Amino acid sequence: MRYVVVTGGVMSGLGKGVTTASVAKILQSMGYKVTAIKIDPYLNVDAGTMSPFEHGEVFVMEDGGEVDLDLGNYERFLNVNLTRDHNITTGKVYLQVIEKERRGDYLGKTVQVIPHVINEIAEEIRSVAEKQDFTVIEVGGTVGDIESMPFLEAARQLSLEEDVIFIHVTLVPSLDVVGEQKTKPTQHSVKTLREAGISPNLIVCRCHQELEEKTRRKLALFCNVHEDQVISDHDVDDIYKIPLVLNEQKVGEKIIRTIGLRRKPDLNRWKSIISKKMEKTVHLGLAGKYVDLPDSYISIKEALKHASFATGIDVEIEMLDTETVEDSSFAHVDGILVPGGFGSRGVEGKIQAVRYAREHEIPFLGLCYGFQLACVEYARFLGMEDANSTEVARELAIACTPVIDLLPEQRSIDNMGGTMRLGADTDILLEKDTLIHSLYNENVIRERHRHRYEVNPEFIPFLEDGGLTFSARSSDIKKMEAGELKTHPFFLGTQFHPEFKSRLENPSPPFVGFVKAMGERHD
Ligand code: GLN
Repeated sequence: MRYVVVTGGVMSGLGKGVTTASVAKILQSMGYKVTAIKIDPYLNVDAGTMSPFEHGEVFVMEDGGEVDLDLGNYERFLNVNLTRDHNITTGKVYLQVIEKERRGDYLGKTVQVIPHVINEIAEEIRSVAEKQDFTVIEVGGTVGDIESMPFLEAARQLSLEEDVIFIHVTLVPSLDVVGEQKTKPTQHSVKTLREAGISPNLIVCRCHQELEEKTRRKLALFCNVHEDQVISDHDVDDIYKIPLVLNEQKVGEKIIRTIGLRRKPDLNRWKSIISKKMEKTVHLGLAGKYVDLPDSYISIKEALKHASFATGIDVEIEMLDTETVEDSSFAHVDGILVPGGFGSRGVEGKIQAVRYAREHEIPFLGLCYGFQLACVEYARFLGMEDANSTEVARELAIACTPVIDLLPEQRSIDNMGGTMRLGADTDILLEKDTLIHSLYNENVIRERHRHRYEVNPEFIPFLEDGGLTFSARSSDIKKMEAGELKTHPFFLGTQFHPEFKSRLENPSPPFVGFVKAMGERHD
């Protein structure tokens, strides 16, 4: 088993995840079987309980794991499905160790960070790395943080037994006032890394402009590496260009050379996808509540980008705050997207967005909550004025006709504390001669879920007779997975989240269809 361990110096939210994904992509393009692990040193067992306000989007895996959004980048770059096991947190590790201690697995020993916690980390890493040629591991946080120490120690110990290449990603700032690239932060974090017993094989420098020759020389000298071990990871206008930037500097070859291997990467297909010429630009209104937080809708934004590369239609996104929207906010858009969400805040604004799209024949894509609220809006259009989701009615303590509700079998679960429907838990059956079928061109698909409420079966005939077609259902036929309007140029809502499975090399069909429809509307 071979590992690439990526550590960070003075780097948080500055692109270490994308750099990690890019390194993994390059290795994959050399013909290796590659996977990736994200280590999050926080105490949450998983990201499911974390607010998008604080931590960006919660990404959902095929097996229902709720994980850090970097896992989304790994999947989008590698075009593979990973599992919850690819996200290791301190909370998860400690939970395991404590459970083992309670079961008596440690046979009366004193349970300690070294060796028990470290061994647990190594075990979790090894079980993911099995059957892979390379496992790229990103250690979240900054070297020197108290909470990431056990993970660095685990990596150090791993390197005594296996082939481990260490990459240190670090910030090289250049302030306008001084006008030169500064190496001090890197010198310090490399020093801290060495104190933990780890010497970097490559130092990857996040910087605005390409790394200058004299910066590279200085870093090599002060960090005790060769000049060609210092890599420039400068800003580019699109994250999908990073594999190419690193590849130009032979990062893949340098990694495998360290362990005596020789192969060449082939990123030609990747390059041709991202070189697609954009023929027009369309304007999308994204009606959500986290308008100021770019990371909150990252998978949707990436899925739109994948669709742009597939169609040559560039999508300019305007965030519309659903707490303040008015009809005039939608006047100039070529498409309206209502994303997932929870709770009552901004719900009426989302419903208004659906109504505007329906009435003005503007291409519409509703995802999860967006789909549920499209059903609510349609029920109101059919005369059921107090139609709502019980999620909203309960929170606001108002009466409603529960078009969206917990299914009877879910109510008992909810009393026990409430769990969500997560991941690709069922086959989804697509009905022939529908929009969704024409998009996927399949009868059965698998997509990921993260929600609690469902279309209330009681109102399905009412909505269908009124003209809303439920074009996809769960394999047991009980849950409505998609709805569409046959009389509208493009009106689609999905209970699942297609954005989680969109990849640069395999864009999500609903997004491709939606972007094409926006293009047509634009013309
Ligand atoms: N709040 C809705 C539910 O729980 C939708 C969730 C979502 O959009 N992810 O069913």
